[in-house]
Amino acid sequence: MNTQGTVTTLRSVQPSETRRRIILFPLPFQGHINPMLQLANILHTHGCFHITIIHAEFNSPNCSNYPHFTFKSIKDRFSEIADQFVTNNDVTYYLKYLNRSCVDPFKECLIELLAEPNKGHVSCLITDATFYFTQAVSDDLNLPRMVLRTSSLGCTLAYGALPYYSKTSYFHLTKDDSDYEGLVPEYPLLKFKDIGKITTNPQGMGEFVNNMLNTMKASSGIIWNTFKELEEPELQTITRDFEIPSFTLGPFHKYFPASSSSLIQQDRTILSWLDTKPPKSTIYISFGSSTHITESEFQILANGLANIGLPFLWVIRPGMVHGSEWIESLPEKFLENTGDKGRIVKWAPQHEVLAHPATGCFWTHSGWNSTLESICEGVPMICSPYFADQPINARYVSHVWKIGVYLENGFEWVEIEMAIKRIMMDTEGEEMHERIRCLKEKLNISLDEGGSSHQSLMKLVDYISLF
Ligand code: UDP
Repeated sequence: MNTQGTVTTLRSVQPSETRRRIILFPLPFQGHINPMLQLANILHTHGCFHITIIHAEFNSPNCSNYPHFTFKSIKDRFSEIADQFVTNNDVTYYLKYLNRSCVDPFKECLIELLAEPNKGHVSCLITDATFYFTQAVSDDLNLPRMVLRTSSLGCTLAYGALPYYSKTSYFHLTKDDSDYEGLVPEYPLLKFKDIGKITTNPQGMGEFVNNMLNTMKASSGIIWNTFKELEEPELQTITRDFEIPSFTLGPFHKYFPASSSSLIQQDRTILSWLDTKPPKSTIYISFGSSTHITESEFQILANGLANIGLPFLWVIRPGMVHGSEWIESLPEKFLENTGDKGRIVKWAPQHEVLAHPATGCFWTHSGWNSTLESICEGVPMICSPYFADQPINARYVSHVWKIGVYLENGFEWVEIEMAIKRIMMDTEGEEMHERIRCLKEKLNISLDEGGSSHQSLMKLVDYISLF
């Protein structure tokens, strides 16, 4: 029973203690690989566990950055459908595909690992929560399974509350519908226009969410990349509704940065360019690892940035703009005209950029890692969410924590410019800075010895040690 409060014994593990093994299995996408590898490092360092990572061939991590871990690759067959990834925006299609294609190779790999002689007792399996098929496998093999949920508590609650089957019309409202701006009764923080963004396939999403939540509840415990003080009411609800322990020990990247699990090489040259910019002067723009933008959004952004008069650092991944390889469709003379005022990179060292004194605001797609990283560095956000948990995170940023502006109506430059000014030039922006500074302070306290995240980590280590 119960969560958070019940695992009370605190035991500090001595480095000399015989270590046990944990097997981890990340979902093969950047925003999921980063926190899973960070968690592996945390448990290795603070819990003295041996770490084995089972990973898909698709987006396989750079094993040489982790000589202290053992890696096992399985054939996920994702490459058979990967080409559709840019055009098909039904994320549940890919998640469901992986939950089918990985079953046999994963089970075979796990059986082999469990049978390895002289490698020590395997305490438990930790999988991404979206790999719901692994619960049946671990039940079959009598191995405790814990889950890592890489989104927020709030997102998980909202996912659980939405009526995917009974009210699919909720997801298809357009600007002309009178309810479009209305609040969703099942989760009144959200507007109907937000949930239209979550998925294009409500039935598929409903099936996926049911599978994920049911197997989370059947697991031995949930590890969250968040901290108690950020989502206190949500944690209380989760504690009540999920009768298994929950551990909120985030933000993980404060223990270990994500650079070593980066799938694209980070361009570090821009840090010295940032050094030349005044404090809080620069807009950092990045839409994460899997968002794609249209050519017209790209043009609006480029023209706007060229005219705004503020320094900017813009991350554009190769292939991110529909129909372009990289930035070949930039307006004529864009680079010439913006000169030293702006930089475009394929991938940035995001933590360092956000921590840099010159960064004044983060225009983000509101992925959960990016949101947490921005909070950690006290940088207010402009939110342009695209799918899945992103619109939910954007609502929390703008309406609950009040540390950013949500561009609810997409890419209207007038609105974008207003958002930038509100954050970078108005007193409203100063208030946002102040609120996010307070959150940052709470977060730092939570990571200190005796703080909520630190305590949660100790409880987690003890809990796993009992398996
Ligand atoms: N990231 C990075 N460099 C970039 C953009 C993003 O290292 O130029 C990292 C970022 O720090 C975060 C992850 O990629 O840890 C993106 O995760 P998030 O959940 O924000 O979004 P996703 O990519 O899953 O949509």
